[in-house]
Amino acid sequence: MKHVFGPVSSKRLGQSLGVDVLPSKSCTWNCIYCQLGKTGDYVTERREYYPREEILQEIRQAIESSTAIDWITFVGSGETTLYKGLGWLIRETKKVTDIPVAVITNGSLLSIEEVRRELLETDAVLPSLNAGSAELFERIDRPASGFTYERHVHGLTEFRKVYRGKLWIEVMLIAGMNDSAEALQDIATALEKIRPDTVHLVMPTRPSTESEVRLPSENAISRARLILSRVAKVVHPSKGSMNLRNTEDIIETVTAITRRHPLQERELRHALDELIPDDHDQVERIMVGLLGSGKFKTVTLQDGEVYWVQDSDTKG
Ligand code: SF4
Repeated sequence: MKHVFGPVSSKRLGQSLGVDVLPSKSCTWNCIYCQLGKTGDYVTERREYYPREEILQEIRQAIESSTAIDWITFVGSGETTLYKGLGWLIRETKKVTDIPVAVITNGSLLSIEEVRRELLETDAVLPSLNAGSAELFERIDRPASGFTYERHVHGLTEFRKVYRGKLWIEVMLIAGMNDSAEALQDIATALEKIRPDTVHLVMPTRPSTESEVRLPSENAISRARLILSRVAKVVHPSKGSMNLRNTEDIIETVTAITRRHPLQERELRHALDELIPDDHDQVERIMVGLLGSGKFKTVTLQDGEVYWVQDSDTKG
């Protein structure tokens, strides 16, 4: 399938069926930690990048063929709400299933009333807030011209006023950038205006192209939990594990996932071990076969963690 992938497992959304509505990479921001690589040209105009019926048809098929789906999650290879038919897709999805619907977004377009309206029927929206000041926002999220910090916070605040679903704000915690007590106090102050249901601390655990992006220390994570919990419950989602049990074609599944983000080798091996218990040799043969397909390459981070990426991602 071209748009639908998974279900992939995550602590927040359980078995989540991903629906990617954008060509890579279409974004209003160029985050320092982005796992999709640098934003070439910013995209700021909402358009129907693919026919909406084509995407809906894939959602229908996936629901029919997959048994365990906890959430249907709209997510883009970039900023999800740039897709102009999103409101229609959410409505039509709700007509065909009771499975809750979530949207992962950077939140930059929530300053537009039409976008806020389109998201009203979802069950959860997960926007980003990584900074409590304009200066840090520019440094971390590096938005397109006109997408100011004030506009961002205003959009989130206005959305909260009308939204009855779960507003789960994601804060990407980056060592040396937004993990000091001062930076976290500023974020907490902004969050007080927005009034999210929960704050999700996320970490830059996947490789990004920027070397200055580093994982926060345990101390910094504890500090963030303490300071941000004055506003809302803070959850620190541990990584979900990959589930290959409903997969018909492993190579297609791994391709679909690595197209969106680097895949931890440990996670892939664990999923294969669960699929083929007690046959370690067979698991290793599949891993070797997947790498031998020429579609993937491995990247080893400084901490020794190995990730799989699409082979084209590693070519200049
Ligand atoms: S908002 Fe998401 S897709 Fe866009 S640059 Fe930031 S991390 Fe990447």
